[in-house]
Amino acid sequence: MKEVLPVFCYHPDPIATGAIDGSDEVCDCCKRARGYIYRGGIYSKCDAELVFCPWCIADGSAATEFEGTFNDVDSLIEVGIPESVVKEVNERTPSYSSWQEKVWLHHCGDACEFHGDASARDVQGATADTFEAFLEGQEEHREHWIAEFRNYVPNEDLVFYRYVCRHCRVVRLMYEYS
Ligand SMILES: [Zn+2]
Ligand SMILES: [Zn+2]
Repeated sequence: MKEVLPVFCYHPDPIATGAIDGSDEVCDCCKRARGYIYRGGIYSKCDAELVFCPWCIADGSAATEFEGTFNDVDSLIEVGIPESVVKEVNERTPSYSSWQEKVWLHHCGDACEFHGDASARDVQGATADTFEAFLEGQEEHREHWIAEFRNYVPNEDLVFYRYVCRHCRVVRLMYEYS
């Protein structure tokens, strides 16, 4: 039987997001095959092809052993998110394989949970709170994004990702153009 996956508060379902999947591969950190493997990559001076089991991410041993980090946390540092949270996202939270530029969203003074690709319904049905939070800091005009939201279906050119606040549960969206 497979071991129970460790808890990642900021990436609560890494199987659903595709960050971790079932595999017999051996973890480069603990050298064990534990039934799951993470392929999202690590920022490290070492070999970029490293794969890890979820446990070596959760306990920080992969980040320590390979002097690496998993996520870009500049967006969290800029707004004064507590250092303990920044460290957890940076060193003990799986990233997401398809990301180019990783911006971790925050709300209520904490990093948000990452929930992977947003569905068409998540975007088209975004609440006013979600939309207004999204608009902050965007260069394009409101009208541009109203149209993008209304017509959104997941596609190869524009992808939305879904985050959820751990405190007020507001949904926050982030996008990336490929
Ligand atoms: Zn391991
Ligand atoms: Zn909140």
